[in-house]
Amino acid sequence: MQINYSGDGKNMVKELSDSKEKMFIKQGSSTDYITSTNTLIFDPTKGFKFFDKQGGNETGKQSPAVLLLHDISHAYRDIFNGINETMYKGMTPLQTASAQAQDEQFVTRFYETPGAQKLGQGTRRSYEQPKEKFTPVSVTSTEEQK
Ligand SMILES: [Zn+2]
Repeated sequence: MQINYSGDGKNMVKELSDSKEKMFIKQGSSTDYITSTNTLIFDPTKGFKFFDKQGGNETGKQSPAVLLLHDISHAYRDIFNGINETMYKGMTPLQTASAQAQDEQFVTRFYETPGAQKLGQGTRRSYEQPKEKFTPVSVTSTEEQK
C-alpha cells in the first residue's frame, strides 16, 4: 500500500474547506470519521487519557480538540489520498484490518502527535496504546473536570 503524506494540520483544514467535496459535521457521543458518507462526528466533551499498559500508569492526556484533529486527518486522507472503503475492496478481512491499522498509526504519528505537541498535550507512542475517555473542563483543555 502506498501512503502519501501531504500537508500539515494548518494547510489540511484550509484545503478541506476549499475543496469541492462535501463534508458533514455532526455532534455525537464519540469522535469519529465515516469515510463512506464523509461524516465527521465530534464529541466536544471527551478527551483521552493514555496509559503505559492496561491498568498501568497514565502517560498523558489529549483534549477533545486533538481528537478532532485526528479525525479531520482521516477526512483529509479520505478526500485527498483515497484512504477509504474503496481502497479495501477486494481485500481479505485480515488485509483490511492491517491496512486500517497502518492508517491509524500514520494519522497518529504524522498528524495527531505533532498537533498535540504544538499544544503541549500528551502523545502516544502507538495508536494501540491503552486509553480511557475523560471529561475536561473545556474543549481545548486536558484539565479534568472535578
Ligand atoms: Zn483514527
